[in-house]
Amino acid sequence: MEKKVAVITGGSRGIGRAIAIKLAQENIDIAVVYAGNEDAAKKTCSKAQEYNIKAIAYQCNVSDFNQSKETISQILKDFGKIDILVNNAGITKDGLIFTMKEADYDAVMDINLKGAFHMIKHCYSHFLKRRSGNIVNISSVVGLTGNAGQANYSASKAGLIGLTKSAAKELAARGVCCNAIAPGFIRTEMTDALNEEQQKAIRAQIPMGDYGQAEDIADLVVFLTSGKANYITGEVIRVDGGMAM
Ligand code: NAP
Repeated sequence: MEKKVAVITGGSRGIGRAIAIKLAQENIDIAVVYAGNEDAAKKTCSKAQEYNIKAIAYQCNVSDFNQSKETISQILKDFGKIDILVNNAGITKDGLIFTMKEADYDAVMDINLKGAFHMIKHCYSHFLKRRSGNIVNISSVVGLTGNAGQANYSASKAGLIGLTKSAAKELAARGVCCNAIAPGFIRTEMTDALNEEQQKAIRAQIPMGDYGQAEDIADLVVFLTSGKANYITGEVIRVDGGMAM
């Protein structure tokens, strides 16, 4: 069977790295898009290459329209096609609305939401021509519930759900699926840095009693893009230990 090609934004670390490696385990070639952490992106590629697939890292700020366009065309030159696009790149710049700087609001919206729009837009005609494609956007439970101190981040993740459903409606008749995953608290470098008391408070909000793992998100990306989920589109799936039910 012909190998698939996946683009994973924010594939250098955390959830994105887990997604890249799980897809590599499924014999899928991967393009890892990262912002600045070249060593981490190369580490993802070398780990993925252990599964005998092709993996290349691309430095690209997804919030930049032209850089995103050039990156997608370079990936198409290097791999010949794109089957799967995972919009995972994201940042936080938390604070109460009262004190939040305009620049911090804009930076989060530009990377988390507009970045995904850029990548979808630049893959759009390729997907249309091939009459196939699979887009997975990594949103968040706070995009469903809101969160004090995260107005910018929650708005970006809620916007990503609107983008997901709109893209799903535009592309459904062309054989392209677009879904969103809404993770809850996932163990990453960020959560490891919290002290025991903060960790305890977070666990108390989770019906299943503990954080999820990056691999829990990656397993769902694998399923959604496996060919076993071809009748699922425009869906938002929580992976949160029951937190936002
Ligand atoms: P992370 O460890 O902080 O990694 C962020 C990734 O995004 C890195 O690969 C980073 O690249 C990349 N990135 C940041 N800005 C970028 C830009 N302008 N252009 C291209 N790439 C950029 O994050 P994570 O915890 O794995 O989260 C991944 C996604 O899941 C995010 O969208 C996040 O909002 C979402 N999420 C996470 C959690 C959680 O608990 N961790 C919960 C819900 C949702 P560099 O390495 O080059 O900096």
